Amino acid sequence: MRVTGLSEHAGRPLLRFADERTPEPADLVVFADGRTSIGRRLLDPARTLRYAGYVAHRGIATSAPHDLRDFVRLEPCPGAQFNVAPVPGGCDWTFYLGCTATEYEQHFGAKPTRRVFALPQHITPAAHEHVNEHADYLLPPEHAAVVRATTTRMAVPVLDIASPTRMVWPIGRGHAVLLGDALAPVRPHTARGANAGIEQAAGLAVALTQHRRYGADLPTALYGWQSRHLPTAVASVQQGPVIGDKLGFGVD
Ligand SMILES: Cc1cc2nc3c(=O)[nH]c(=O)nc-3n(C[C@H](O)[C@H](O)[C@H](O)COP(=O)(O)OP(=O)(O)OC[C@H]3O[C@@H](n4cnc5c(N)ncnc54)[C@H](O)[C@@H]3O)c2cc1C
Repeated sequence: MRVTGLSEHAGRPLLRFADERTPEPADLVVFADGRTSIGRRLLDPARTLRYAGYVAHRGIATSAPHDLRDFVRLEPCPGAQFNVAPVPGGCDWTFYLGCTATEYEQHFGAKPTRRVFALPQHITPAAHEHVNEHADYLLPPEHAAVVRATTTRMAVPVLDIASPTRMVWPIGRGHAVLLGDALAPVRPHTARGANAGIEQAAGLAVALTQHRRYGADLPTALYGWQSRHLPTAVASVQQGPVIGDKLGFGVD
């Protein structure tokens, strides 16, 4: 159920839902709700998403270059990167290309900070052809042919955000936390987004086990969890633009 709000009621966090069912009080609220997190908007509203000026175009192809045995990355020129990997029945490719915010809106129907995933139904013919033309111009012919033949496509705008300074908020006697992309979406080149979220979630399970099973004080366990995971999250947020700059991807 879609979460729409968080307030404090009788000293505990109270979640609200889109279907207006009776709000749910809780001891701990964990927001793991991705790049456009309602949790981040409520708890840490100053940290808004910023478009980084380029897009990860993604395709699942039913064919593959004949000699593709493993993950391959091509960097044909600054500001373009093509990653391709074999998957059962074909290959999975990601083609990073520069794109102004205006072009993004024209190609995918909404601003990049609003449409943070462009699903197959959002890919316009113009967006499709834009990728095909760049593939023809920048990639070896066999890779370009695979791109052209790909009918299932998506696109993800690359987004930045200010580094987080905390992961835990007291709400009355209870708490709310952010983790994964809700805490800090990072650039895909870092390969850290999913990994960080999994590590944070596993660490939170350990902190809650210390509280439930061994009687550890909950705030102490939660702030200990924060101090173990926050530095890595900050490092990944900062690393993204550094890698992007080296690859020649600029800001819009
Ligand atoms: C091209 C690309 C390549 C990547 N490569 C890598 C990689 O190599 N390694 C890596 O570790 N990471 C990589 N990532 C990043 C990774 O995909 C993300 O970091 C990860 O999927 C985020 O997981 P999450 O669970 O935090 O958020 P999400 O997967 O976005 O899940 C959030 C969930 O919350 C739900 N939700 C949202 N709002 C609400 C609401 N209001 N109420 C209730 N539910 C809600 C959503 O429906 C969704 O199910 C890559 C990303 C991209 C785009």
